[in-house]
Amino acid sequence: MSIPFNKPTFIGNELNYINNAIESNKISGDGLFTKKCHTWFEEKLNSKVLLTTSCTHALEMIAILLNIGSGDEVIMPSYTFVSTANAFAIRGAKIVFVDIRPDTMNIDETKIEKAITTKTKVIVPVHYAGVSCEMDVIMDIANKYNLFVVEDAAQGMMATYKGKHLGTIGHFGAYSFHETKNYTSGGEGGLLIINDSRFYDRAEIIREKGTNRSKFFRGMVDKYSWVDIGSSYLPSDINAAYLYAQLEQAQNINFDRLNKWKFYYDELSLVNNKLIALPEKHAIYIKHNAHMFYIKLLNLDVRTALIEYLKKHHIQSAFHYVPLHSSIAGSNFSVFNGQDVYTTSESDRLLRLPIYYNISYSEILQVVEVIKKFVEKYE
Ligand SMILES: *Cc1c(COP(=O)(O)O)cnc(C)c1O
Repeated sequence: MSIPFNKPTFIGNELNYINNAIESNKISGDGLFTKKCHTWFEEKLNSKVLLTTSCTHALEMIAILLNIGSGDEVIMPSYTFVSTANAFAIRGAKIVFVDIRPDTMNIDETKIEKAITTKTKVIVPVHYAGVSCEMDVIMDIANKYNLFVVEDAAQGMMATYKGKHLGTIGHFGAYSFHETKNYTSGGEGGLLIINDSRFYDRAEIIREKGTNRSKFFRGMVDKYSWVDIGSSYLPSDINAAYLYAQLEQAQNINFDRLNKWKFYYDELSLVNNKLIALPEKHAIYIKHNAHMFYIKLLNLDVRTALIEYLKKHHIQSAFHYVPLHSSIAGSNFSVFNGQDVYTTSESDRLLRLPIYYNISYSEILQVVEVIKKFVEKYE
């Protein structure tokens, strides 16, 4: 039996809700289910939110809202998805990378201050694997230098830092509902989280092609027109219907993933040897969401061999980001501040194992058994 790396979350009620949306004869953006999703998130997060067509687009909207332009510098880790950087690079910003911490693969908060110049405008912490960055330290630095903080919480829904939901601590946050994330709106989708309410009215306009159409629908203006730059960042209500079915089950989905994550951890602890390192324990005030289960191998050669061995046994695994500073676009749009001590070396060792909603315990055991055999053979 083969085990895929990911299966998109599917809870069962998605199709009912999509049907309801179709029967209401209103499937474009900001329909009934978009409103239901907005209410759900606003109650949960205690912030203003807008569903978007992707997390990438939510980040692009943030760059517009912050008036990012050429000459501005944006600090972030190099170990992240291209969109974290691209959202700011397309506005003309220079991307300034800082090294990561090996224990969480998140930006090293102690190295941020050295990267700040008079041109710095934004810090973008990325909560890798749904494990929070050290937000108190990052917010203190931002306040000291008058910078904005944008949380790339693409992987972070339902995870918290000192009791606060990821994405609600900085000025802005962004979630992804891509099929590889814990919750999906039917393949592609995202959420813009606005924690500084001064930005809400303009966000609504940017999302609606630069028009005040949302105000018009609420009866606040008698006609709508072009008032600002913008694009089409609002998803179809079909996507919102898909997502809403999963929001209703958000707690159950989170419990299931956390249980499966713990099972992996306990079973692999028994296999632990010098070839394989398990995820490190993080501070107790950090609650993750089991977005991924990764191990770290001794080196790149061992990782390559294990990927092959798993594949031979019909198990899909995946390494992750090629650090952005070593990419083609990276050499045009970015600089690395300080030394790359951990970004490249830790990225080379990391391997993600299959984990998804409703993966069975026997599937996990199958993965563990194959890893066990690999370790015995390799010694
Ligand atoms: C998935 C992801 C994104 C992009 O999300 P999309 O919804 O696919 O645009 C951005 N940043 C990080 C860290 C991600 O994991």
